[in-house]
Amino acid sequence: MKVIPSNKVIYKFKYDLDYVERISPGEVIEVETNDCFFQQIFDETQVLTEIDYDMLNPATGPVYVEGAEPGDLLQVKIISIDVEDKGIAAVVPGEGVLGDQVTKPIIRVIHVKDGCAVFHGVKLPIQPMIGVIGVAPKKEDGEWATDSPWKHGGNMDTKDIKAGSTLYFPVNQRGALLALGDCHAIMGDGEICFTGLEIPAKVTLEINLIKDKNIKWPLVETDEYTMVIASGDDLEDAVYEATSQAVGHIKDSLKIEWEDAYVLASLAVDLKISQVVDPKMTVRAAIPKYVVSTEKLIEDLTK
Ligand code: CA
Ligand code: CA
Repeated sequence: MKVIPSNKVIYKFKYDLDYVERISPGEVIEVETNDCFFQQIFDETQVLTEIDYDMLNPATGPVYVEGAEPGDLLQVKIISIDVEDKGIAAVVPGEGVLGDQVTKPIIRVIHVKDGCAVFHGVKLPIQPMIGVIGVAPKKEDGEWATDSPWKHGGNMDTKDIKAGSTLYFPVNQRGALLALGDCHAIMGDGEICFTGLEIPAKVTLEINLIKDKNIKWPLVETDEYTMVIASGDDLEDAVYEATSQAVGHIKDSLKIEWEDAYVLASLAVDLKISQVVDPKMTVRAAIPKYVVSTEKLIEDLTK
């Protein structure tokens, strides 16, 4: 199994990235990811303003997938996310949903033991997830710093991007050029205070290619849902995009009128907040598999 080491990182998703490894569809790889601070924070007495902000949000990669061409889908199965035994959470004045109420910066080093993060005596069962994962964007979409989410993926901070889930990305450039980082041992929907439990990890992925199928925004498949992950300048923009895609997928798969797909979405689709603290906000529209299976949804995508 090829291992992509954690010292091979990018800070921008852009169309002409240099890859660090080539793999074939069907291959299983291990990707070593750094925490979002590039491990610069390890002690609660550190001063947050003294770290190098140019090193934040490294994404390991990118990986070139043989045969991937613009207009294909990249399928990324998350087999496992093994996190280290210690993570970092922080509060920064002005950041997060309640940034105006923050009186001082704090750093918290939180240990993970026997599958739980323990904080102030509260045992939190960890659910490791990948914060940043994406592919090279379209040239016309410009360059995206790794701290931002968009159509190529990026900093989606979506807790359903976890072991057992499968992601689908639009391939925009030859080789797709996949990179990832910023794992969290646990995070609630919203990422309220601006961090999850930030932690280095070893991520095992199986990468596959689905030829000649196109999507506008990434999808994540869980046991019960296919979710459209969309981002916008505010929650309303993100909700509009995610909903519009979800209704379109239902219409195309069930071959019903758009208005009926809209009704069906209103009855069955859940809108969930992924995060509200990044440069763009992210939501997901969760389509239950009993409405349409992921397989059928993808089969019915147009080119
Ligand atoms: Ca993040
Ligand atoms: Ca993070």
